[in-house]
This record gives sequence, C-alpha cells and structure tokens, in this order.
Amino acid sequence: MKEIILAKYGEIALKGLNKNTFEDVLIKNIKRRLSDLEGVKYHSAQSTLYVETAPEDTDTALERLKKVFGIAKLCKAAVSEKDFEDISKVAILYAEDALSEAKTFKVDAKRADKHFPMTSPEIMRELGGRLLSSYPHLEVDVHNPDVTVTVEIREENAYIHAKKIDGAGGMPVGSSGRALLLLSGGLDSPVAGYMMAKRGVHISAIHFEAPPYTSERARMKVERLAVKMAEYCGMINFMCVPFTEIQEKIREHCPEELFTIIMRRIMMEVAQRLAVQKDLSALVTGESIAQVASQTMAAMVCTDAVCRMPVFRPCIGMDKIEIIEIARKIGTYDISIEPYEDCCTVFTPRHPKTKPVLADVEAAQALYDFEPLIQKAVEETKAYTLHAEK
Ligand code: ATP
Ligand code: MG
Repeated sequence: MKEIILAKYGEIALKGLNKNTFEDVLIKNIKRRLSDLEGVKYHSAQSTLYVETAPEDTDTALERLKKVFGIAKLCKAAVSEKDFEDISKVAILYAEDALSEAKTFKVDAKRADKHFPMTSPEIMRELGGRLLSSYPHLEVDVHNPDVTVTVEIREENAYIHAKKIDGAGGMPVGSSGRALLLLSGGLDSPVAGYMMAKRGVHISAIHFEAPPYTSERARMKVERLAVKMAEYCGMINFMCVPFTEIQEKIREHCPEELFTIIMRRIMMEVAQRLAVQKDLSALVTGESIAQVASQTMAAMVCTDAVCRMPVFRPCIGMDKIEIIEIARKIGTYDISIEPYEDCCTVFTPRHPKTKPVLADVEAAQALYDFEPLIQKAVEETKAYTLHAEK
C-alpha cells in the first residue's frame, strides 16, 4: 500500500498575514532535513505539508520530521484512488492496527475536491458503517473516540490516516531571529539551545576551551553535543575560542574569590563581539538560578553589566530534574554526562563569592588590562559548521 507523510503546521497556522513567511521557513527547513533522500515530493495545502518519499525512506523521514519545530502533528497516510470502493477497502486494511486496539471510533472526512460525488457527512456515515461491519467489536463515539479515521479527498488522490503523533511543536527555526549560545559540555546549555530553537531562534554556538588544561576530546564532546542539537536546531555555526591565556592572567592578577565571575564577564564580552560580527542579536546561556555559586542573581547582575545585547537564559526557572528530562528527550544527556573537563572547572576558586558586588568586580578586573587578550581571543576563534547526522 502506498503511504505518504502528512505534517500539520502548529502555531504558524494562526499567524494571519505573516503565515506565508513562516510557512516558507518551515518548508525550507523540512526540505533541508530530508535533502539526502532521493525523489521526495512536497505539496502544501491548508496548513499541511504532504511529503511523499520512496517507500523505504518513509520511516526515516518521519523520525526526522518529529524533530522539526513548527510541526504540531504528523501522520502516515495511505493513498487511495478517489473512488469510494477503493477508499473503504484501503481504510479497512490501513486502520486495522489502530482499530483492533480501540473500543470506540469515528470517521472524519475532509473534501477539498468538491467534485467528489459524496459529501463529507455521507462519506463519514458510509465508511463508518463499513468499518463497523469489518470490526464488529467497535462502537461509534463521535465526541470522544479512541481512534479517528480521517479521509481527505484532495485533487490528486484520497488519503486515509488513523494515527496522529505529536510533532516537535514550536516555531520554525530561523523565523525568530538568530542568537549565540554559550555551549559548554554540561547538561544545561544544550537544553537552553533547544528551548530557544523551539521558539524559532536559529542557534549558533560558542565554546571556550583552555588547552592544555582542557583536552581535544573535551572539545570533541561539545561538537558531538552540537551535532545532536542540530537534529532540532538545524545546522549550527560553531565557534571555538582559545581561552587559556585569559584564564591564566585572571589567576595571576585577580582575587581568587572573583575568578569565576570575571571569567564569565570576559566570556560574555568575547561572545558578544563575535555575535556582532556574525549578525547574531542575543546571547543564550544554560544558567539556572541558584544552581551554583556563579548563578546567583548578584552574579548575573555582574555578568550582565558587560552585555550590550539581551542575554536569554531559558533554563533560569528550571530544576535540574526538569533539565535532565529534556536532555534525555533530545538525546544530549548521554553525551553531557561523559566526564570531560570544562575550562570553567580548571581554575575553580575554593570559596567563590556568591554575592559579588559590581563595583568590587569591576575594580578587580581592572587590575589587569585584558583588552589585548580579548581582541586576540576573538581573532583566533575558529569557526565551522556542524550538521545533524543523517
Ligand atoms: P552547563 O550544564 O551548561 O555546563 P553549568 O550548570 O555547568 O551549565 P556553569 O559551568 O556555571 O553552569 O556555566 C553556566 C553557563 O555558562 C553554561 O550553561 C554555558 O552557557 C556557559 N558556559 C560555561 N562554560 C562554558 C564554556 N567552556 N564554553 C561556553 N560556554 C560555557
Ligand atoms: Mg558546566
């Protein structure tokens, strides 16, 4: 039996006059995600994209589409001739899996082709009757059925589906601007990137490394995280900043209890300069309030004082357990818990200040002229693109 995939748009279906722009972004993202599959055909109508792949690629395509933001629901649908006898034959076969587990059902019919000789209520009634005779254990429940068998009569064919699955929801990536995620190897920042991408923000990622204190394998772990995130975020422009010299100078010249906060302020400074160069309009971090000493409100006041663009922290109000739940869902958890060192943990003070005062931090940072090193770090940053695995 020939099958296609129906991808139903989510929120963008409600966007009024701007809908076409959102839809264009979504369709482009979908095509990009399936670009290695041969001969895929697309057709869009009434807030649904009809995706026809080679039969052996349908399941692969469906798995990938589950991670494309902007799609609310997905289903596989059987293709039938636009002839009621064929429709009922296909429906009886195709809905078997769903109906044999169900107690109640209803039929829904949508008729885009008004030339079809039966009206929608007629299709529902007739097909309901045929399904009842084939599956006598069932009862009809029009209000709250276990399964809805839907028939869509379109220009070219009729489509029948019975099992909808949830899509990723959200807005198409790229429809809400571009931001730069500070990506460590930990649990939180990949989740933060996912949450922003879910609202349509295209994510680039910046990682600070401190060789030889941090290893090449630690950086490769972060790259693997970005590759994993790209299944949801689309391709990720990745930047890797050499941070060793700056960290060594902080250690030599600044009070130990303020190491972390000064380091974080300089990270933000480097990140926003690169963001401006790359035309990205906000920073994103994985911070969650009170999680560690550098994530108190007082500390965030001190880091944000150097920022000239918005800093989004989508994990700010989340517990670790909630963050872990998302990390597992998006597949970053297993990578994040691999025990590699991060540049942040290389020079951790024994007693970090939990309530740093901005004036003190500024005075401490002024003990050394970091500007030339900041410029050098920006210049020596390596940038490359990472794609989701196919
Ligand atoms: P994560 O789980 O994301 O590592 P965390 O709880 O370990 O977060 P911190 O180490 O205090 O928290 O880092 C806070 C945030 O700073 C991170 O979420 C991330 O956005 C950013 N960050 C930390 N280390 C790095 C790094 N080496 N490169 C880029 N960003 C970093
Ligand atoms: Mg960390």
